Parts: sequence; structure tokens; C-alpha cells
Amino acid sequence: MSATATIKKVSEIYKAPAPHMVGDGFSVQNVFPNGNRLGRRISPFFLLDYAAPAYFPPGNKPRGVDEHPHRGFETVSIVYQGALEHRDSAGNFGKLHAGDVQWMTAASGIVHEEKHEQEFTKRGGTLEIAQLWVNLPKAYKMTAPRYQELLKEQIPVVPVGSNSHVRVIAGTFNGQQGPAHTFTPLNLWDVKLAAGDTVTLHLPDGFNTGIVTLHGEVNYNNTHTAGSVEIAMFDTAGETITVTAIADATLLVLNGQPIDEPIFAYGPFLMNTQQEIMQAIDDYNAGKMGHL
Ligand code: MN
Repeated sequence: MSATATIKKVSEIYKAPAPHMVGDGFSVQNVFPNGNRLGRRISPFFLLDYAAPAYFPPGNKPRGVDEHPHRGFETVSIVYQGALEHRDSAGNFGKLHAGDVQWMTAASGIVHEEKHEQEFTKRGGTLEIAQLWVNLPKAYKMTAPRYQELLKEQIPVVPVGSNSHVRVIAGTFNGQQGPAHTFTPLNLWDVKLAAGDTVTLHLPDGFNTGIVTLHGEVNYNNTHTAGSVEIAMFDTAGETITVTAIADATLLVLNGQPIDEPIFAYGPFLMNTQQEIMQAIDDYNAGKMGHL
């Protein structure tokens, strides 16, 4: 950082729409792309669903989403409260608890199910999660699937302000590197900011940046205020963002080098052309992405 570091200015602030159900287990607000058409301005990120805290009574059958495919990108699931259970056609099985993150690279194709964890289902409780879709460059869309389970203990917690912290899931914050392996340069940070605390974020010039206020209220660069559930979009130019919490806040910082390639999206597939989407549908129907 040099004395000439410039401010990344807020361009717009968008509110997330009302929630809708995904399967029978997740009531999510689609922050983008359908909730807000941010398009290329948020590349390499393509989709963000946020399931605000919701109570589920004790039950027998785990709620969630039954088996379905993905191709051409990565799904990143962040558990804030409650617990999830995952199973996929590559043989991966995982239980995710509060603080854990699952980074699943679908790439050439995977079939998975996403459910509430069994013990959580029996006990009942509050679930809060976010799921982010990270696009892959054309060169990696048809490579082998990969699965990274990033447990709470592996994610560095960097104290900031007087009573706040930044958890570095991917990328680097103040010299601390996150555990996620990514295909393109990006930063993904889970920030808890106590009312009155300020943090200055140093981010690469030329990268796209969106910051989502999951809870609370913050001020950016002394120019704009955002509440829950709102995403602040920033100019690609500039290197610093100053965030001050007006009320206790939980933020998700998305920052990455744009992937400058065509996008063709259809349901659970994210490719470069319509032809590749048709191929993905054919391959899934032919069982080439596997089964559970
Ligand atoms: Mn899925």
C-alpha cells in the first residue's frame, strides 16, 4: 500500500428481494443475479443466495434439496448457524457446522444433494447460511470436480477495531491468507463489525467488489449507508474501502478479478455458449455426471 492508494467509491446499493424456497429446507433471498442484475460487474461471482436465520422445529426427515447437477462453476456454502449435510456423485460426504465453509468445484459435472444435518434435524434449531456461485474460466470448466471442506479452525480470524474481526475464507487480508484454493484471484471475507468500529479494507485495483450487509448497518467511505440485506457495489478502480459499523454488522466481502469471457447460464449450469448448455443437459440426462 502506498501513500497514493485511492478510494474505491460506492457505485450503487441494491436491496435483496423477498425470500423464496429452495427445496423444502432453505428460504433464501437471491442477492444476485435475479434479485439484482449485476451482470459482469460482479464477475467472477455469479449468484448469491442468503438464508436469513430461520427456526426449524424438530423433525425426522432432513429438509433440503434433493439430488441435482452442476457444471461449469463452484458452489461455496457458508454456515453461520445450524448444520448442513452434503453428499455428491464424486463420493464426497460432509457435515458442515457453524463457521465451516464448503467449497465445491463442480467443473465438468457433479450431482449432489444439500440437506439439513441429521442431528440438527432431530433437535431442531436456527439455520443461517449463504451460498455463493463462483464462475470458472473456460479453461477449467471441463476439468475434474474438486471438494474443499474448510473447517472453522482452518479459517484465520484477524482482529480489527476494538471488538471486531475478519475471517479470511479466500485471498489475503492484512497478510493473513485464507485456506481456499481458487482458480482465479479473489478475496472472500466474513466480517463481524461491532457498532462504532471501523476497518479499512485494502483491495486490488481493477477487481470487482460487492459487500453484502447480512445484518446490521454500516457506512462506507463516509459517503453511503447500507442496511440488511443490501449489497454495495464499488468502482473497479481504487484500492481502499473504509467501513464503519453504525449497528453491529455481519458483512460478506466479495472481491475478484473479472473473468472476461461470455456467459451462458441455464438453471444449474454455467457455461460460455448455448451449445455447451445443450451438451450439459444431454450429459446429465445420459448419466455422465454420475449419481448418488
Ligand atoms: Mn446445488
